[in-house]
Amino acid sequence: MNKTTEHPILVTGATGYIAGWVIRQLLEQGLTVHATVRDLNKTKSFQHLQDIAEKNSGKLRLFQADLLNKNAFDEAMQGCEIVIHMASPFLVTNFKDPIKELIDPAIKGTENVLNSVNRTSTVKRVVVTSSIASTYGDAIDALKVPNNTLDESYWNTSSSAKHQPYYYSKVAAERKAWEMQIAQSRWDLVCVNPALVVGPSLTPMTKSGSVEVLQQFGSGVTRFGVPKIWSALVDVRDVADAHLKAALLPNAKGRYIISSKSLTLLEMGKVLTRHFGKKYPFPRMNTPKFLVKIVAPFIGHSRKYVELNVGYPLHFNAQKSIKELGINYRDVETSLVEHFQQLIDDGIVKKRG
Ligand code: NAP
Repeated sequence: MNKTTEHPILVTGATGYIAGWVIRQLLEQGLTVHATVRDLNKTKSFQHLQDIAEKNSGKLRLFQADLLNKNAFDEAMQGCEIVIHMASPFLVTNFKDPIKELIDPAIKGTENVLNSVNRTSTVKRVVVTSSIASTYGDAIDALKVPNNTLDESYWNTSSSAKHQPYYYSKVAAERKAWEMQIAQSRWDLVCVNPALVVGPSLTPMTKSGSVEVLQQFGSGVTRFGVPKIWSALVDVRDVADAHLKAALLPNAKGRYIISSKSLTLLEMGKVLTRHFGKKYPFPRMNTPKFLVKIVAPFIGHSRKYVELNVGYPLHFNAQKSIKELGINYRDVETSLVEHFQQLIDDGIVKKRG
């Protein structure tokens, strides 16, 4: 895709796992990126972006902005035609107060960014990074749809601050974005709804929930088995590509599910065993649901979560992204292997054998 804007593009949450690839692809195209980070003093968290900028024709400018500070995004947005709002906490189990740590930054953050958009007359297109979590709350929801396959027409109506709070943070933030878009006519909105993102990170500093899953595979937590849970997967470079297309293609419209295919946790373990051998404690069997229910509270999940998510096939239809954005999905089995290898190389997973 060729450069299609002379104006800078704003990317929020620039230190993030996915944002790294989005910014890299924008800089490789020679575009100017205004990138916001929560704390400009944490230079290690964005050094990789500065290194990428040095090697490419695009220009990078960094700004400080916290999602919870009103007006924080105004300066970074000056002169931008396109805003890509990615910043949002991605925590699946590692949190104490879901409202403070997940829901407020997601919803109020989206509101703050879009209030800045409303004050910035140059902005014409906003891309919000939502999630497949905006289309369903629990895997059991997919029992009600043909072939257990969800598409962009579905909305998550079952998550709350108490049950599946990360999912709730995503659907509530996306709804807020559409509500604010409909209230005006200057800027349009495109939502990117990725599945679980895997594949190499541009920095070992990432704390994305994506790393949490593979880390558990490496640490031995899943050695004695995994629940029968389906996970829709997609490579991080395809997710970045989808963001660029959503930002730059004039005809991009509405929501886009970005997903390559679903694998069960056991199938993911088998993919990794085939490549790395048996020296790593990858899961080799499914744990019966009643046993998962017993241990769930000790590993950060509720029994209700297990009841509504274990044993239900879950698939996503990403045809709209293929037809309208031209996404050519990578094989996620290779992405899983590359990602796990990187966690070993970075010392995040202990090297064995
Ligand atoms: P990540 O690496 O954890 O990135 C999250 C980003 O949000 C970080 O840059 C973080 O900044 C920023 N952030 C969090 N709270 C903030 C606050 N109060 N103020 C300013 N910035 C804040 O996660 P990711 O996987 O790249 O996720 C990026 C986006 O994609 C999120 O919206 C996530 O929900 C969505 N998504 C991710 C996946 C996935 O599988 N990874 C799937 C679907 C959707 P700090 O560095 O300062 O913490």
